[in-house]
Amino acid sequence: MSAETDPFESLQAQLDDAAAYIDLDDGLLRRLKNPERILETNLTIRMDDGRLETFRAYRSQFNGDRGPYKGGIRYHPGVSRAEVKALSGWMVYKAATVDIPYGGGKGGIVVDPSELSASEIERLTRAFATELRPLIGEDRDIPAPDVNTGQREMNWIKNTYETLEHTTEPGVVTGKALDSGGSEGRVEATGRSTMLTAREAFDYLDRDIEGATVAVQGYGNAGAIAARLLSTETDATVVAVSDSSGGIHDPDGFDPAAVREHKHDTGSVVGYDGTTALTNEELLTLDVDLLVPAALENAIDADLAERVEADVIVEAANGPLTPDADSVLTDRDVHVLPDILANAGGVTVSYFEWVQNRQRFGWTEDRVVDELERVITDAFDGLTEAYETYDVPNFRTAAYIIALKRVINAHAESGTWP
Ligand code: GLU
Repeated sequence: MSAETDPFESLQAQLDDAAAYIDLDDGLLRRLKNPERILETNLTIRMDDGRLETFRAYRSQFNGDRGPYKGGIRYHPGVSRAEVKALSGWMVYKAATVDIPYGGGKGGIVVDPSELSASEIERLTRAFATELRPLIGEDRDIPAPDVNTGQREMNWIKNTYETLEHTTEPGVVTGKALDSGGSEGRVEATGRSTMLTAREAFDYLDRDIEGATVAVQGYGNAGAIAARLLSTETDATVVAVSDSSGGIHDPDGFDPAAVREHKHDTGSVVGYDGTTALTNEELLTLDVDLLVPAALENAIDADLAERVEADVIVEAANGPLTPDADSVLTDRDVHVLPDILANAGGVTVSYFEWVQNRQRFGWTEDRVVDELERVITDAFDGLTEAYETYDVPNFRTAAYIIALKRVINAHAESGTWP
């Protein structure tokens, strides 16, 4: 774990690596590396015991050249201005990698929601939505879930916005519950794109995914669903998973859905029947075919990267590798499939939800699953083509070349004004 790596510097380093292959003005590159604007605000709410409490919150609108700003809202004590800036930039290049018509944004509140009651979280969410109201809208900026937020928070944001605006506008936020205008397939979308990326990568690298051993770090929405789909839809064998309390291991594999039930009942994956305990670090250095980091940024630093035994890494989390870790893994021929492709299923099905909201016409789950598969496999093919054409050292640089070129083209086509 390398808490000191600034995620915003990581984003900028990733962009510099790809920009070296593209002819562009330094001034334009500076634009592409920095957010357009950031809201920083303090939300004061009344706690259940009558006290007033104030929480710092941010929304970064990184780049809107390809469409409205789009990205989640995170509730976590580790949220910072630098983190939100980085996450908003990753959204720009994620939407561009999979070619959906969005810019990128991200928000966060510095809070540990496990210490708040449901009604305190509701007041905090509505306070943030009130601050965001002038900035968001289905054609401006569209929030979504991220770490520690989900359908409940999105429904509250939608309701606050619609109440204040005296309108109905379900497309102002995505990741809503089904009865509040959500989409079939949205909850599992991030895990599904992780599974699809792993499947395509193994095929491209001439490796068998059936029976491949898998370790997953992080067992929230992305990690748990990626583990389940890898086991049910590709026949990979999940042998280790972890959460913030620790990890579990069984070399013969286990049923990821049953482990999720166990976590639901006990609060952690730890202690699941027939498994032995292991630390997060042991999990990240386990000798497996596929490693899926699905927790937070900076999970693997250069030191840990030297000890990674996996052959392929598919990033379900945003920014789980530091740039130094990336260099080490590239030198060691470990194939890394970047976050801006592998976890793009979330924002892609958010896009489908927004299309459905605007048309007031719902899709079946089969349609969502099929369209998502098309978007991810097309993006994967584009990525491997760029990997070969530009002869770049790794898949991340290939993805950023594609994404940067799309944003640069949109910017050029719009012209510079005034
Ligand atoms: N928070 C997710 C991400 O990092 C989803 C964003 C969205 O659906 O807009 O990609």
